[in-house]
Amino acid sequence: MENSGLISFEDHTINHRALTGLSFATTMLELSNSKKMLEAETGRTVNFIAYPDGASNLRVQTEAWETGFVSGFGTWGGKMFGPGMNLPRVRVYGSESLAVFASRL
Ligand SMILES: [Zn+2]
Repeated sequence: MENSGLISFEDHTINHRALTGLSFATTMLELSNSKKMLEAETGRTVNFIAYPDGASNLRVQTEAWETGFVSGFGTWGGKMFGPGMNLPRVRVYGSESLAVFASRL
């Protein structure tokens, strides 16, 4: 799928735990291990992280940046352009039509 050029796989951590409740060391492992695994599988640099449950704070965002992510995504809706470590995320629900999904972009 990655090689189709239509999609790219990005990060969502190893265990899907809310990073804001983890220690610095555990958060760093969640971020760096998942990034390394995806990069090994895809053969390209993984630049984006979608925080599990959208949970981040300045500490988590700083750790994500230091791990090498270019941007991070929360779960709040909306539109925003440009780099940032807590950007809005458009959720994809399998029950929605393509038209409904496209209307939220
Ligand atoms: Zn999730």
